[in-house]
Parts: sequence; structure tokens; C-alpha cells
Amino acid sequence: ARIAAQPAYSEIARKTLERRPALFIDGEWVASSGDALIPVHDPSTGKQIASVVDASVEDVDRAVAAARRAFDDGRWSGLSPYQRERAIHGLADLIEAHIPELAELESIDNGKPRASSEGYDLPRSVSTLRYMAGWATRLTGETLDPANFPSGAVHAYIRREPIGVCAQIVPWNYPLMMAVQKIAPALAAGCTMVLKPAEQTPLTALRLADLVAEAGIPAGVVNIITGYGETAGDRMVRHPDVDKIGFTGSTDVGKIISRAATDTLKRVTLELGGKSPVIVLPDVDIGQAAAGAARSIFSNAGQVCIAGSRLFAHRDVFDRLLEAVAENAGRLKVGPSLAPETTMGPLVSSEQRERVLGYIESGRKEGASVLVGGDAPTTDGGWFVNPTVLVDVKPQMRVVREEIFGPVLAAQRFDDLDEVAKAANDTPYGLSASIWTRDLSAMHRLAAKLKSGMVWGNCTSAADSSMPFGGVKQSGLGREGGRAGIEAYTELKTVGIML
Ligand code: NAD
Repeated sequence: ARIAAQPAYSEIARKTLERRPALFIDGEWVASSGDALIPVHDPSTGKQIASVVDASVEDVDRAVAAARRAFDDGRWSGLSPYQRERAIHGLADLIEAHIPELAELESIDNGKPRASSEGYDLPRSVSTLRYMAGWATRLTGETLDPANFPSGAVHAYIRREPIGVCAQIVPWNYPLMMAVQKIAPALAAGCTMVLKPAEQTPLTALRLADLVAEAGIPAGVVNIITGYGETAGDRMVRHPDVDKIGFTGSTDVGKIISRAATDTLKRVTLELGGKSPVIVLPDVDIGQAAAGAARSIFSNAGQVCIAGSRLFAHRDVFDRLLEAVAENAGRLKVGPSLAPETTMGPLVSSEQRERVLGYIESGRKEGASVLVGGDAPTTDGGWFVNPTVLVDVKPQMRVVREEIFGPVLAAQRFDDLDEVAKAANDTPYGLSASIWTRDLSAMHRLAAKLKSGMVWGNCTSAADSSMPFGGVKQSGLGREGGRAGIEAYTELKTVGIML
């Protein structure tokens, strides 16, 4: 079927798209020192809809200098924790009040169905801010009796202090939500920051800057700039005045950033790629497991770091499960982001579409069979790929080993727990895993065996801002979310006073 036309944008979205390209530095919209621009596209049509600044090195330096001043003079970290908590809630309130507008903008820019932006990305952004706001007043240090001194001889305590200036770089798959996941803990901890959204999806982060100003967060605390990764992003991660890098994106770029940060030994947290297994044991409700597996790989058109891209189904249920997964795929309504009936949108860019189609082709060439999908629908220019399920895959195939970041599932059979744990762990990644069974001991035994930062049982994600989120192996370093997520924006200072 031919993809329907993208419905008209609202008046308010059109106004935002017409804004003059600018950077949000030191509480103001400022022009770039240069005149380079980045085109912004609607993935549902493939058409350019706006331009944003491609920040120069001088622009990055100006933003970092603003964040440095704001940190050093204590205009944010010097407030009472309660004042910071209130200001973060104020930002959450403003985002909440603008949900329809931000959701439309996100869908236009990223291509995800409007219902997903409105029902997931936006509410999650609000709740992340609210959750992290609470930490501002709950962070504590410690006191202790040093081991080698008579008790009471030394008054020793450990202060938990904000790290300082943070460079925060985010990807295009959940643009606003990722930006907020970076900003929220940094604000709560008392840090200042320069945030750069992905070049493909800068629009909601720029609109967020307006709300940061409106929320009364002091100038220079949150600076938001747009630019390409290899230039503006690179300057951010090498800048000597930056104390910490918070990065979410691909494993390849994570490694580049990790190396770049070494010169000045910046603190680094990395949330990187994945190739997450979904393991289905034979005792499950096939309908539920199939719906979960399909949701895990097809929501956000598979552009999800924790997408369940490898399905391991027990031999006894493989055929029935795959048939049900294929049915779920068939029920998806692939279409433009703003059409109300759309349940799966386009991929974010033409490069991403080519990449995904290339992987499907490589799977075919290496001997995989296409159970469903495997092609692109007819369109007037949007970057769509149909939901795809590959079977007859072998462990060495690229579609099994590499992160595709698209709606492509590779399904395999297994016979026993040890075998499936070994197969599931046989990847450089270790972000997330999902186990489906009613057998409690099998569930817990497998959960312990999987080399993964997160394991979900009878669902494919219950991730939440209160839980540590992140990966082992090449899926990342450090955690976002929960206590670990706020502590990642703090340093410890040991104080020992001889009494
Ligand atoms: P990407 O690594 O290409 O880009 C991410 C960001 O890094 C962008 O803002 C980009 O401009 C910037 N960047 C690129 N090169 C840079 C450099 N040399 N120096 C500094 N910054 C640079 O990733 P992407 O294609 O935008 O996103 C997809 C990837 O993100 C996938 O691998 C996905 O798994 C991962 N991801 C991980 C998580 C997680 O929490 N673990 C969440 C979402 C996405």
C-alpha cells in the first residue's frame, strides 16, 4: 500500500519552524559566529522544513564559558536545594503545559507517531524532571570514624558536591526525552551544562531552551546549542573547562568520546548501543509474549537502544510464536507521523533507511529467510521501511551480531537454558534482556546468567527514571536514573579534621 500524505502542520508548529536559527547561550538567543546551517527534515516526507545553526568552535567555547561562569559564581549550586527542586518542578510544569505542541514538533522532526510522542516521550520527560527534582533535597554525604585513628580523634566526613560543567550530547531517537534525562540530574546536583541535540532532531531541544528561561533557571546554567558531532560535539568533549561528559549514542562514537576525554581525564558516562535478546520459554502465553516481542522491536520503528532485536524462542513454541509475531507486525499501520491512525512511522533519515535496508539485504545474502516485511512501502519521499522478521538466521550473520537500529527482528530457536544464556551473551553488547516464563526458578537463574545491565521479566522493559539504566560491555559506562543517575553528577570530597 502507498503511504498516506503527511497531514498539515499546526499554526504553532509552522511558527517554530520559521524561527531564525540561533543558539541558547547564557540565557539568551544569540547568533552564531559563523553562518553555517544544518537542514532539518520531516522524515515522513523527506522534505527540508527548517534550518538550525551549525555551531562553530567559537560558539561552543562561548557556551562553555557561560556554563563555567555560572558554575563558578554559584548562581545555581549556591541556591538552597529546595530552591533548585522548585525550579526543576517549574520546568516540568512548563513542559507539561506544552505537551501537545512539543509532541507535534517531536513527531514532525523525528517521524515517530504523534500518539507515541504525546503518550510516552513527553510524559516521561515530565516525570524524569519531577523524579530528579526530589534528589536535590535528598543528596547526602557521610561521616565516619577513620580506621587507624582512635575513635573520635578525627572528625571525618565526605561531602557530595556537584561535578561542575557538563557537556551533554544526545541522539535522535527520543530527542526531548534524552535531553531531559541529561539535564534533570545535572540540575538537581547543582551542575551547569551545555547540551547538544543530534543534528537530525534539534527542534524540541531548542524549544526546551525557551522553557528553561521561562522557568527562571538562572542564565548560563543550561546552554543549548546545535551542531554536528564531529565538529561542535568534538569541541565540547575536548574543551578543558568541561568537567564531565554525559553521552548517549552509538558505541563507535562513545569510544571516540572516551578517548577524547582522556587528555583531561573528564568524568564520562556513556549510554551506547545494544543487541538485546528476548528469550521465550515454552510455558508462556504465546499471545502475550508475541505482542511483547513485536512491541520491543517495532516501537519507534526499532530505533531504540534496548530494542529486542534478537528473539530466542524455545523449539517447542518457535513456530507458533513467530506466526503470532508476524501477525502483530502485519497489524502495524505504517504511515506519516501526524496521521492519527499511524502506529509505526518512518526512520529518522535517508541514511538510516539505507542502512536498515542494507542489513536486510545482507541477511538475505547470508541465507536468512524473510518471514514478513523485508522491503520498503511506496512513498512520495518519506523514509519508511516495513516491519521485518528474519528467520533461519545463524549466530555469525551480521543481522544477529550488529545493531541495526531499525524494525528488523532476527529469530532463533533454542533447547535449554545454558545454551540460550550462552547464545544471548555472544555479542559485544550488554544493555538489556527480556525473559518470558512462568517458571520462577528459570527466570531468576537466567537473569543471573545474562551479561546485561538490565533484565526484564515477562515484559521487554519496565525502565523508569527511578531505576539505574545502562549497559555492561560495549553498551556503556555508568548509569542514568535512580540514585546512581544523580550520583553520576557529583564528586566526593573527603574532609578529615584532627580534633
Ligand atoms: P551517534 O553516536 O551517531 O550520535 C549521537 C550524538 O553524538 C549526536 O548528537 C552526534 O552529533 C554526536 N556525535 C557524533 N560524533 C561525535 C563526536 N566525534 N564527538 C562528539 N559528539 C559526536 O548516534 P545516533 O545515530 O544519533 O543514535 C543512535 C545510537 O544511540 C544507537 O547506537 C543507540 O543504541 C544509541 N542509544 C543508546 C541509548 C542508551 O541509553 N544506551 C539510548 C538511545 C540511543
